[in-house]
Parts: sequence; structure tokens; C-alpha cells
Amino acid sequence: MKNNVLVIGGAGYIGSHVVLALLKSGYGVTVFDNFSTGRRENLFPEAGLMEGDIRRYGDLTAAMKGGFHALVHLAAFKAVGESMLDPGKYAENNISGTVNILNAAVASGVHNVVFSSSAAVYGEPHYLPVDEDHPVNPENFYGFTKLEIERLLFWYDKLKGLRYAALRYFNASGYDPEGRIKGLEQNPQNLLPIIMEAAAGIREKLMIFGNDYATEDGTGVRDYIHVSDLADAHVRALAHIAAKDESLLLNLGSETGTSVLVMLETARRITGRPIPAEFTARRAGDPAKLVGTSARAEKVLGWKARHSGVESLVATTWRMYERLGRSD
Ligand code: UDP
Repeated sequence: MKNNVLVIGGAGYIGSHVVLALLKSGYGVTVFDNFSTGRRENLFPEAGLMEGDIRRYGDLTAAMKGGFHALVHLAAFKAVGESMLDPGKYAENNISGTVNILNAAVASGVHNVVFSSSAAVYGEPHYLPVDEDHPVNPENFYGFTKLEIERLLFWYDKLKGLRYAALRYFNASGYDPEGRIKGLEQNPQNLLPIIMEAAAGIREKLMIFGNDYATEDGTGVRDYIHVSDLADAHVRALAHIAAKDESLLLNLGSETGTSVLVMLETARRITGRPIPAEFTARRAGDPAKLVGTSARAEKVLGWKARHSGVESLVATTWRMYERLGRSD
């Protein structure tokens, strides 16, 4: 019981890396997933599996009968563009689904929750690097769902004694450096996987959204954080909230700004592929630059990004995508 963790969304891109990190740290892990975007290839034989949907309360209470001291919640839709076109889908899954999770946790005596939040809660930054005290004002519905969940967590902490860590990820990228994660994201929407698909020849080209931003090379700058660094932070955050009986709100980023062109040039160099690219109009709602400070995570958790250099992000991702373009 003491060391058993339910990882909701544990078959997904970030979830599978979290499962790996928890197993490596000696936790007993059970994955809860509906496989809507999660991949069966991402499951580990050492972890248990409960198939279910967070939109069904009964699925959650049944899963939590196993007796867990903590849960990690990463089950969410995360495509920003889609969230603006179909907010109902995002409200139902991300927000109502989390209400179910929290109520089931309270009913089942699970006291600790680590939650995947996002730097999208900040919206257009007023100053850089963004810290946790920066005002929150999401510019898209996806970010709004993450902020609503943070507020639910705050109240369940106050009223029900639930302790939580809300982890505000910047741009999650990369794959396990040891190649232990096998499943690729389906229909990826983010920069690096799109560059990789163009490199592997399964996508015609990268469309670069804007070249007239007030940044060094005119393209958007983001803070890319390796998914294995994120996973490590989840393990530390879980141990912290359980041991100290206090909740946490933390940024997780690499503190380094990387432009679209720098990412593209690095990918061309590492893959040895030409990677066709074309400039196009800015994408609505994109800030010019979004970079965070993770000083609080470093101070509280003793955590630091170790795998998040641009070369490491590209190389670990290319290893996954390289095989796609091959006919053998
Ligand atoms: N981007 C781009 N072309 C793409 C996808 C992304 O130029 O096909 C840019 C986007 O405008 C932003 C950066 O790459 O400056 C990262 O975008 P992504 O969607 O990966 O993450 P976001 O920061 O929006 O969460």
C-alpha cells in the first residue's frame, strides 16, 4: 500500500516515462488508461493494468480498490487547436474526468495526487523567465482546463486534506535515452515530432509558423524539457508531498529558450536529412517567447534538467522516428 501508485494515463507519451521512473525507484505501479491516445506498446510487464475511462466514476473506484497511497494524473486531451474548436470534449474529459478522479480518491483514501499541469496556464507572458507567481491567464481552452483543475486541487487540499503537486510543464520533448519506450505518439501536433516526420519522409515539410517575431531569428522561442527529466520530477514531487504533507505548485522547464530555426537546424545536423521547411503565417495564440524558471523545483525537490539540451532532445526523438521512413 505504502509504495503503490496508480498512474492515470500511464500508457501515454509522458505517462509511460513516469511509469518507468517510478518502477526504477522501487514503486509498485498500476496503469489506468482508456487507450484513446495511449499505446499498448508503452506498457511494462512489471506494472499492473486497469483499463478504464476517467469519465466513468465507477471505473475509477474499481481501480482504486487496489489500495494506493498516491496517484499520478496525466489523462488529458492536449491539442491546443482542437480545444478551441471542441471545448466540450476538453471540458468533459479534462475537467469532469478530474472531478471523478478527485472524488474517487477521497472516497478510496488516496491522499496524494501528482498532476500534469502546463505552462499554458500563463498565457502571453508579462515577463521572462516566467515563475510560478506570474499571473495566470490562459489564451486557449486547453490551458483553461489545466487551470480549473489546479483550482479544484487547491480546494480539495483545503477541504479534504488531499495533498497535490501541480507540475506546470513547459514543452515536453524527447524520448527515453535508453530506448525503453516503444510507442510513438499518434498524430503528433508538436514541433519536434513534426520535424522528425519530415526528416523520416512521412511528412512533406515543416511549416514554420511566423518569421517576424521579436526574437533573435524571427521564429518562436520555447523552453523544451526532456520527458525523462519531467518523469524524474514526478517521482521527487510524489515523495515530497507524501513525506512533508504539503502541496506544491512548480514549473518544470529547462530554462533555455530554443527557436524553431535552431531546433530545425539541429535536427538537420543530427539526422543528416535535408528536412524541407517553409515559412507560413503565425499561428493564433502563439506567444513570441515562453521560457520558464524552475528555481523553485530545484530548491524544493533538488531537481534539475539533465537531458534537456537540444541535441539530446533531437537525438533521442530521432532514434524513435528514424525507422518510420524505412520500407524494410
Ligand atoms: N511550430 C511551428 N510549426 C509546427 C508546429 C509548431 O512553427 O508545425 C512552432 C510554434 O509556433 C511554436 C513552437 O513551434 O513557436 C512550439 O510549438 P508546439 O506546438 O510544439 O508547442 P506550444 O509551445 O504551442 O505548446
